[in-house]
Amino acid sequence: MTPADESRATNPLWVPWPRFVPAILGCGIGIASLVLVARAQAPAAAELSDVGPSPIPAATPYIDTHTHFDEKHPADTVRALLADEPRENAAKIYLQIPPFSYTDADRFDADVILPEARKYPTKIGVLGGGGWLNSMILESVHTGDSGPEVQAKFRDLAERLVREGVAGFGEMAAEHFVGSTGYEYAPPDHLLFLLLADIAAQHGLPIEIHMEAVPQAMDLPAPLKSPPNAAHLNENITAFERLLSHNPRAKILWAHLGVDGTGFRTPELCRRLMSAHPNLYMEIKHDPKSPGKHPVLVNGVVDPEWMKFFQQFPDRIVIGSDQHYSGHDDPGRWQSDVLILNQLPGAIRTKIAIANARRIFTPNPPPPVRK
Ligand SMILES: [Zn+2]
Ligand SMILES: [Zn+2]
Repeated sequence: MTPADESRATNPLWVPWPRFVPAILGCGIGIASLVLVARAQAPAAAELSDVGPSPIPAATPYIDTHTHFDEKHPADTVRALLADEPRENAAKIYLQIPPFSYTDADRFDADVILPEARKYPTKIGVLGGGGWLNSMILESVHTGDSGPEVQAKFRDLAERLVREGVAGFGEMAAEHFVGSTGYEYAPPDHLLFLLLADIAAQHGLPIEIHMEAVPQAMDLPAPLKSPPNAAHLNENITAFERLLSHNPRAKILWAHLGVDGTGFRTPELCRRLMSAHPNLYMEIKHDPKSPGKHPVLVNGVVDPEWMKFFQQFPDRIVIGSDQHYSGHDDPGRWQSDVLILNQLPGAIRTKIAIANARRIFTPNPPPPVRK
């Protein structure tokens, strides 16, 4: 056991407040540099890095549907999550797997955390597939092979994750700028995405998808750099709508509302897609260190356009902070989502905080056993 491990064992993940350590930059963080061109950095960001000896808890119990963890210390992660939930007023936290590529030799999947997390099914949920399934989709895009053998293997792995107890499939990526994982592109109507939608619908499980909005083909927006990102981005909204229409029983959770890397994930686009596709859901994220081009929090206040959007679709929006629980975490992401939540009118706050997530993450009952 190294000194670092020892310190984790005796004082697992959480460090005294306020301790500023740069957050582990996760999926979606490829837009970190966009902070330079985003709206003027909200004063709230500075405030959030110095929130005092205690964070501000949610005004109502909430479920965080999207977080990540340290796969090398699953037991510590679970212990620390259980200890932290009361401080956040979090009723349940869902962990998920980063969207890995087939070229990521150290990719992993939900099996690394499920044995520990399964002990606390009311407090912790796990989504899987970011390691096994996302990498297969990217490999299939690369090779062009999505034939019967590839489909069979993909289905086997997805069904294995379901048997092992995942609460959904994630994190999948269709357009992902470089962050903790590399640049990734896959058409959201790729045959394996459609297959996953069918499997997810069959079990009543949601699919989490990370996808920068690209409503028309475009050059990579500044200040993002290529390489490592692609120089040109493919239009993806048409294909995304094909995925949504493919199986209306598949619940598709579009991650990272607010953290927009292209400038096109606007309230208007989100409104149009939500109106057209009742199986589309969205997850609110705000990263004070990397707010992106359409942040929900501006100067610490919920943007009025986003507020209108939340009020229009109160039954299909959830909290997905993308917090990384890894041992030295700046709590800025979950704290920001809590500050958003606390500003919502009471009538919609409870839905977005907890009721919607409970509904989305309720799987289909198992089929009756034949005698
Ligand atoms: Zn992501
Ligand atoms: Zn994520």
